[in-house]
Amino acid sequence: RIAYVNGQYLPHSDASVHIEDRGYQFADGVYEVVPVMSGKLVDEARHLDRLERSLSELQMDMPMSRRALQLVCDSVIERNYLTNGFVYMQVTRGVAPRDHKFPKGIKPAIVITAKQTKPQSTAVLEDGVAVKTVPDIRWRRRDIKSISLLPNCMAKQAAVEEGAFEAWMVEEDGTVTEGSSTNAWIVTKDGILVTRTADHDILNGITRMGLLEVAAEAGVQFEERPFTLEEAYEAREAFLTSSTNHVTPITRIDDRSVANGKPGSVTMKLREAYLDRIARE
Ligand code: PMP
Repeated sequence: RIAYVNGQYLPHSDASVHIEDRGYQFADGVYEVVPVMSGKLVDEARHLDRLERSLSELQMDMPMSRRALQLVCDSVIERNYLTNGFVYMQVTRGVAPRDHKFPKGIKPAIVITAKQTKPQSTAVLEDGVAVKTVPDIRWRRRDIKSISLLPNCMAKQAAVEEGAFEAWMVEEDGTVTEGSSTNAWIVTKDGILVTRTADHDILNGITRMGLLEVAAEAGVQFEERPFTLEEAYEAREAFLTSSTNHVTPITRIDDRSVANGKPGSVTMKLREAYLDRIARE
């Protein structure tokens, strides 16, 4: 495997960053995971838009032009013979003596890697997955795709320890924010598709944005609003979305099955339509 690190293409095993990189010391950086299908980046423009936005919210500049970034991504894809999987991009503020305030005049550090993934298992699609709920203990700017992911790792670990696939994080007011690395969706008892509003409380998933367009085209009625865990327990369907999981049905939330415990029909219809959309691109 080949990694791109600050201007160089290196064997993955030799690639490294400086011990005083602010990403390492302060999690002072942002990232993107861009899916790759048939060797091509999916929704590249939206991912680069989100990267630019995350950086600007933290007063950081793009490490290179968008065009250059696209070329490096294509080169990483090619050098890794990647067909289906994802490209990981991470930008940190750079290397400086440890001091909390933003240092002046340093260059951002950038790492780009690629990974091949297996197609989603048929068991996941036939049976759906389980989620475990945990309190959302994160900061208040979850819209920034920061590499500070410790609460997300803790949530996912708690889920996996109970045999669940993902964690759903819940606010003190009882509303679900999102998964540890996925957005959360339900289809209510009344058949309405619901996902949380994309404000500072969640990361606005690129898959989320695409799926809302797909839902509109398919004539599925939807609402962007917070929903409570109680509402999710009573829902007709539930699913999660992300660049690596696309649309994945959820059939258990904590110790309760979602409706009859089978993937929902709206979920599977949206999943097909979404996969068509990204294949067509
Ligand atoms: N929420 C969180 C916290 C995430 O880390 C991710 C994955 N990047 C998502 C949602 C889903 O976003 P996307 O569809 O862009 O992968």
